[in-house]
Amino acid sequence: MTIPHSLSQIIRRSRSLSDLLDQTVQLVANAMSMDVCSIYLLNPGDTRLRMVATHGLDRRALKEVVLELGEGITGLVVKEMRAIAVEDASKHPEFIHFPGLGEENFHSYLGVPMAIRLRPVGAIVVQSHEQREFKREEIETLNTISAQLVGVVENARLVNALDQPDTAQRYLDELRRWNGDQVSSPSQSGEQRHEGHNASPGIASGVVVFRGTYELPENVRTRRPETPETEIEKLGAAVEKTRSDILRTQELAAKEADEEHALIFSSHLLLLNDPIIEDRLQVAIKETGVSAPVAVDNVFKEIAKQLTGITDVYLQERAEDVRDLKNRILWHLLERGLPYEGIANKIVVAHGIPPSLVVEMKVQGALALVTQRGGSTSHGALLARSMEIPAVTGVSGLLSSVNSGEEAIVDGGKGKVVLRPRARTREFYRAKAAKLKSIKIKLRENRGLPARSPDNVSVELLANIGIASELRQAIKYGAGGIGLYRTEFLFLIREDFPTTEEQARVYGRACESFPEGPVLFRILDLGGDKFHPRISSPDETNPVLGYRSLRMLLDQPGLLEGQVEAFLRASVGQPFGILVPMVSAVDEFVRVRELIENTVKSRGSKDRTHSDVPVGVMVEVPSAVEIIPDLAELADFFSIGSNDLIQFTLAVDRENARVAPYATPYHPAVLRMIRRTIDQAHAANKPVGLCGEMASIPEIAVILAAMGIDSLSLIPSAIPEVKEAIRNNPILELREGLDELLSLSDAQSIERQVKKHFVRPQN
Ligand code: PEP
Ligand code: MG
Repeated sequence: MTIPHSLSQIIRRSRSLSDLLDQTVQLVANAMSMDVCSIYLLNPGDTRLRMVATHGLDRRALKEVVLELGEGITGLVVKEMRAIAVEDASKHPEFIHFPGLGEENFHSYLGVPMAIRLRPVGAIVVQSHEQREFKREEIETLNTISAQLVGVVENARLVNALDQPDTAQRYLDELRRWNGDQVSSPSQSGEQRHEGHNASPGIASGVVVFRGTYELPENVRTRRPETPETEIEKLGAAVEKTRSDILRTQELAAKEADEEHALIFSSHLLLLNDPIIEDRLQVAIKETGVSAPVAVDNVFKEIAKQLTGITDVYLQERAEDVRDLKNRILWHLLERGLPYEGIANKIVVAHGIPPSLVVEMKVQGALALVTQRGGSTSHGALLARSMEIPAVTGVSGLLSSVNSGEEAIVDGGKGKVVLRPRARTREFYRAKAAKLKSIKIKLRENRGLPARSPDNVSVELLANIGIASELRQAIKYGAGGIGLYRTEFLFLIREDFPTTEEQARVYGRACESFPEGPVLFRILDLGGDKFHPRISSPDETNPVLGYRSLRMLLDQPGLLEGQVEAFLRASVGQPFGILVPMVSAVDEFVRVRELIENTVKSRGSKDRTHSDVPVGVMVEVPSAVEIIPDLAELADFFSIGSNDLIQFTLAVDRENARVAPYATPYHPAVLRMIRRTIDQAHAANKPVGLCGEMASIPEIAVILAAMGIDSLSLIPSAIPEVKEAIRNNPILELREGLDELLSLSDAQSIERQVKKHFVRPQN
């Protein structure tokens, strides 16, 4: 395994900055066959470098190693921002001897700076006993490690600082000093524009408030505890307050949204009621003699650590829920009021996007959410969309660019955030919001009209939903049915599995809402970015390509049978279809289809035969595109899952904000694959739809219509605009130009061409 790869695993699993640094120095020393690896960091508000982790030197002397910028070889590395390699460090004029560290035993030295843009953050150094020259590749390797580490180190320091106003202020001032003096415009006064994922559409403007992780203040941590009995009593009272606080939010969520949203808090309540946790808290107080806040902090941190240690995205989100619960209890223990108080009418800036925060925002009436981490398809983003809370996620550098109380504008549809907007920008967005509102009202008027082009090409417009509450929106925006019901949500928000009855009750609402229209339930697509601890395999290096979706479901036939039974019960005789995700080979589909048919035969009603339940293949893996004619002999229909098809075709991780620009639906490979799928499915007389996010881009929707797509399934709020696009564009004309369009070799040319011919609806 490569160092960067192992390092990303360490980054993913580490619970604290010091843990991360300790593991990193060990990894780097071993992997580069060096005797020593050490990391130095510059303290905020300070020009001194401190050694914060070492492998190979005497750790007891760590605290002694403090260097001014330019002092010692490492001080020089940081000051001059360049790598320095020497065969014998002790002969270097800048060499400084720190007694007790043992550095004199090592001769060769290689140090590279850690920096964000031009702002120095620290250095990483390797040393060895022997005198030797460093190869260029070794210097490059250490540079790569430094680059990988620096963002994480910065984030960890910043997030720790966020809830401690003094440190945060000092830290932000420091960042600003560097940004202002050396790189871009000063962030404190000037307008700044940032881009991220367009996680949830809508424009909001208001004042920023942070909701980060809460670190126990040092004076609370070091406070002398009272008697264990008193501490336990205080803890009990705080837990009770937390419980009633969560129950209150849960009730509000059920009222404002629905049962599923309220369920998000059931894992908080389960944790609160868990006797093992209660026991752990009591043991911490009685046996280790700590105060109640310290016990809560330690025990919940440990649980979060265990969760993040297991594996990927889903558990990271769960760990965020655990931290959320810890904060809630601590807030009550320290009598600070409620953790989410004060977010009403504000723009919430956070590190991640835990679903509980989104629900709380809805309940409290917050304006919009901006996060530094996360993509547009995470669990929290999905919720934000369903609750119509504008959100932009994955805004890198966000936390270091804004202060609480400053003004911001969020354009969720475009994934843009403007900090400290100028009057002109404010006016631009005010006008844009007003225009969008009037367009929305106008577009809603097309609710009852068909999605038919001026030259008579029709496309069925269906809704994607992930939770039952989105049904309301699907109806509001005039969906013709449900083209993709993502059923994972009910499984992801809890530790146990929902019963068949519970599933039937929730799915039943889709059938009730669309008694005439198609309702396509997707069987569980767990794994990858939709992780469930009970059935996912931990510790995968690459879970997106791992044991997931069908691979997992075929090993859990009981789960699949239960789902199919729930669909049958939910539909009470009404027609519905089943979507099979992530099909990559014929035999997988054969096995799934057989399981589904057997369940329909054995558990369905007498008057419903298996041929009444159409089963479709989701085309989201390039291999499926290559075998459409073979699959067409077995499947009743196709649905192109372009989110994953793009991810796998273009090798772009859909959760990684940094590579998001590469995931363009205009890429000729993507469009040609889609066209081929449609043509081959039609040649076999099988209908084909598309249910990925690209269906909600009006310009793309008309191209898909020109390719002959039968249906598009999209987020409900995008339906009116896509419908208007189809009603305004001559699809047959576009069809004639398709060969030429798709013969273009790059995404930019295709996008330009598509936009040039797109007829924009008159508003
Ligand atoms: C897709 O991959 O395009 C899709 C619709 O499925 P999901 O986004 O749920 O993976
Ligand atoms: Mg998919």
